[in-house]
Formats: sequence, structure tokens, C-alpha cells
Amino acid sequence: MEARPAAPLAQLEAVGVSAWFGDHKVLDRVSLTMPAGEITALIGPSGCGKSTFLRILNRMHELVPSASLAGRVMLDDEDIYDATVRVTRARRDIGMVFQKPNPFPAMSIRDNVLAGLKLTGTKASKSEKEDLVEHCLQLGGLWNEVKDRLDSPGGGLSGGQQQRLCIARSMAIKPRVLLMDEPCSALDPTSTRVIEETMRTLAEEVTIVIVTHNMQQAARVSDSCAFFLASHGTPGVIVEHGPTEAMFERPQDPRTADYVNGRF
Ligand code: ADP
Ligand code: MG
Repeated sequence: MEARPAAPLAQLEAVGVSAWFGDHKVLDRVSLTMPAGEITALIGPSGCGKSTFLRILNRMHELVPSASLAGRVMLDDEDIYDATVRVTRARRDIGMVFQKPNPFPAMSIRDNVLAGLKLTGTKASKSEKEDLVEHCLQLGGLWNEVKDRLDSPGGGLSGGQQQRLCIARSMAIKPRVLLMDEPCSALDPTSTRVIEETMRTLAEEVTIVIVTHNMQQAARVSDSCAFFLASHGTPGVIVEHGPTEAMFERPQDPRTADYVNGRF
């Protein structure tokens, strides 16, 4: 397989998704459209199922033996849970960045970016690889800081730089959607702002879904927001979703108003 050009922007849609760990139901019929080329923020208190929902979106939920699921996840017009879709392809199309930066610490910055190509069996010439490394590090907002030390180990970077390296690594295999689970909550405010600034550029190449506890961040970076809630032990549901500005300025549900204004 040759190195792919930037993939066309894709829409991700969850349709009636319910999820269980054993007998414990944690999501109840969640439906959400995450439009192509937009940034969708998932907000809500701890334990309401945001991370579970995110992991369902790229079939990582299946890695937990007790986990089960109902509903569908559509990437454009394809159900990623269809028996004909290989899980490796679903996870290549739908990448994930985690809360804690996890570069390969002993591997060079360059090889970190290129690591996914080996896993996916993507062939590229030396000059294509150099171009890809530069492009992805630009996307991650890290290029200027590391261009003179691409052979140094990824583990030598600061936490914020490591997270941007992880973003660059995810982008190298040209995903169609990038899922980010609290990508800045382990970082200092300066690194957080740098990542926020890169997200607008990133959204030109990939549809983004971000979980965040930081309401200012949701307001600054997202096009639309979905507010998740699981009250009194009931499974998580989406209470309200819509354009970010409307969610913050004119929330329809009093629970949304309380949450976005920091009252719980
Ligand atoms: P959030 O990301 O919104 O904080 P989670 O998706 O992590 O919420 O958790 C939702 C619910 O699912 C919680 O009750 C949590 O305890 C439960 N849960 C999450 N992961 C697992 C797991 N691997 N095994 C069992 N229960 C889990
Ligand atoms: Mg979580």
C-alpha cells in the first residue's frame, strides 16, 4: 500500500448506542452525529460514560472482556461494527489520543511519527517519509521545536511536547476521525493552549471528537457540544447537544445550564 493522501473528511454517527460492563448498563440509547471536519466536544461529570462512548467509536470497547454493546456506529455510510469491517481498519480510520501522553520513549521523534506506518504495512519512500514527518509535526504544532533534533528520543520531550508528538503520530496514518480523551488534562496551561491552537488546523484534515472537563476549552475549540449525564446510578444519556455557542449562551435544559456554569 502506498502512503495515502489526506483522507476525505468523514462524518461519524452513533445510532442508539447502549453499553454494559457485565450487568451494569452505563450508556442508554445514545445517538449523536459528529459532522465531517468539525470538532465535537463531549462534556459532563465523571462517570457518565464519556470515555466508554469514545472507546465505542473506534471499537476499543471490545478490548474489555465484560463489555457489550447495542446500536450502530456509522463512518459515513459504513457501520464499523459490521462483520465485514476488520477491527484493525476501524481503528486505523478512527485514531485515538489519550489523557496521558504515550510516545515510545526510547524511539526517536522521527520514528515515533512513523511508527503507525509499520503497523499498518504502509510503504513510503525515504523522501515521502521525511515529508510526512514534517507535515504531521506541523499539524501537531511541534515542527519548529524539534526539526533540528528528529533523532532524539521522544521520551526527552516535555509533557506537552510528548502529547503533540502523539497527535502527529496519530495523523501519520491518515485517520478519518481523531478521538481525544481529555488530551490536555495532564498538561500545563501553556501546552494546553498550544494544543488548542493546533486543533483548528487539524480539523481541516480530520473530524475531531474531544472529551474535556474544561468548559473554557470546550467553548474555545468546539463547533458543537454534547452534554452527558448519568444521574443517581442510571446509565449515561445525552441531555442536550447542539452548536457550542447555543449550549453555552442559551442552554435548553437547566442541568446543562448548571453544568456549563460550573454549578456541579
Ligand atoms: P467518564 O469518562 O464520563 O468519566 P467512563 O466511561 O469512564 O465515564 O465510565 C462510565 C461508567 O462505566 C462508570 O460507572 C465506570 O465505573 C464504568 N466503567 C468504565 N470502564 C469500566 C470497565 N473497564 N469495567 C467496568 N466498569 C467500567
Ligand atoms: Mg473519562
